Amino acid sequence: MAETTALPFAGALKASRRPCRTRDLRVCVIGGGGTGAALAYDLSLRGFSVTLLERGELTSGTTGRHHGQLHCGARYSLADREIARECMEESLVLRSIAGDAIEYNGGLFVELDGEDSGLEAEFVDACRAAGIPALPISAREALAMERALSPRILGAVAVPDGSFDAFRLPLSFFAAARALGARIRAWNEVVALETSGRRVTAALVVDRSSDPKREYRVEADYFVGACGAWAGGLGALAGLDVPITSAPGTMVAVRARLCDRVVSHLHRAGDGDIVVPQRGLSIIGSTQSLAASPEALLPPSGDIPYLISLASRMIPSFAEAPVHAAWCAARPLAGRPPRLGAADGGRSISRDFAALDHAERDGLAGFCTVIGGKATVLRAMAQKAADLVCRSLGVEAACASADYALPSWREYYG
Ligand SMILES: Cc1cc2nc3c(=O)[nH]c(=O)nc-3n(C[C@H](O)[C@H](O)[C@H](O)COP(=O)(O)OP(=O)(O)OC[C@H]3O[C@@H](n4cnc5c(N)ncnc54)[C@H](O)[C@@H]3O)c2cc1C
Repeated sequence: MAETTALPFAGALKASRRPCRTRDLRVCVIGGGGTGAALAYDLSLRGFSVTLLERGELTSGTTGRHHGQLHCGARYSLADREIARECMEESLVLRSIAGDAIEYNGGLFVELDGEDSGLEAEFVDACRAAGIPALPISAREALAMERALSPRILGAVAVPDGSFDAFRLPLSFFAAARALGARIRAWNEVVALETSGRRVTAALVVDRSSDPKREYRVEADYFVGACGAWAGGLGALAGLDVPITSAPGTMVAVRARLCDRVVSHLHRAGDGDIVVPQRGLSIIGSTQSLAASPEALLPPSGDIPYLISLASRMIPSFAEAPVHAAWCAARPLAGRPPRLGAADGGRSISRDFAALDHAERDGLAGFCTVIGGKATVLRAMAQKAADLVCRSLGVEAACASADYALPSWREYYG
């Protein structure tokens, strides 16, 4: 467990009210997914005056459609030790500040017959090198823990993965940000960015929550784009070319809780290798392809039987459970593939995140973009972006978002 002061949220409220130089500085966060939520909270805690604009309902982008795995980092340990280490650290932080949204149930990586034999030792070493406790167990022990597993598995490795609710986690951050004074505006789309002397000075917004819809301007000292796979569209409003790749993936949920832990295929990487239990459902994911746009994605029909067949190699009864839903979401990968339609579906692009300082990159001040990463590291993404805001505005205000337990997600709509 991460060390925290375990103060109730009132502690955060008190801390944010200390007199500080950020008080009169206005920051506009564009995008109301998990990253924008954590950023609105972090900036409010540092004392900024924050407005968050989301064009649809909160979490209506990729955040509201992901798999819900709280990654301990084991999945990334063979490919990128630093991403794995960060997932481990952030999963512990989230566990301590947002327990309400998390089912900290553990995970098993299972070895399927014949395939990838010999990978277990390398995997366990890679996990441990990243600070992830990984315990090899026999097939018998694994089957005693998860009775629906295939009796053909050769062995397993137990790791501290978990599940979390894709909506509730960000809602806790939104509730916290709002309690600290942030203005959270859903159904408010940024349709233009105004500049003056190579600085972004205002956003033109269409408010679709009012009837008739109205247009207004938001002036701010700094703007942060947290638009995930839509980051390219926002950047284009300021004439910028933001390096983002939209990499859709399909997931299929069946109406049965077939396992209590997250069950993953122990191999290097590939499709349909993770089953996440979410309340009464089991969800298999995912595939990965490339799309020119993250808009209006639907699962290709072939993905559904394909994913079910992959899930049933780990959990045979997956194939018999009634299908509850199938859907698609776009990963916001920070970078570009060698070419659209590349055979690896963009898997060569790092899963790391970046805060792009447009003053430094493009000579346009007052604006940065935070992209990439994954929902598990939303708080760390927000911290990096908020540090950049502070540097850009010439103020010092330390990050405190790991220090206080967040209010319940229920408080957002309550
Ligand atoms: C198939 C799949 C499975 C995944 N599974 C997991 C998992 O199990 N665990 C995990 O940790 N991560 C997972 N991820 C990754 C995770 O979902 C994303 O990294 C994360 O949700 C991105 O959040 P975000 O806030 O950066 O982007 P989004 O959630 O996409 O938020 C961006 C928001 O910006 C808004 N926006 C865009 N343009 C404008 C505008 N002009 N004005 C106002 N608002 C605008 C959009 O409407 C959107 O709501 C998965 C991703 C995929 C695709």
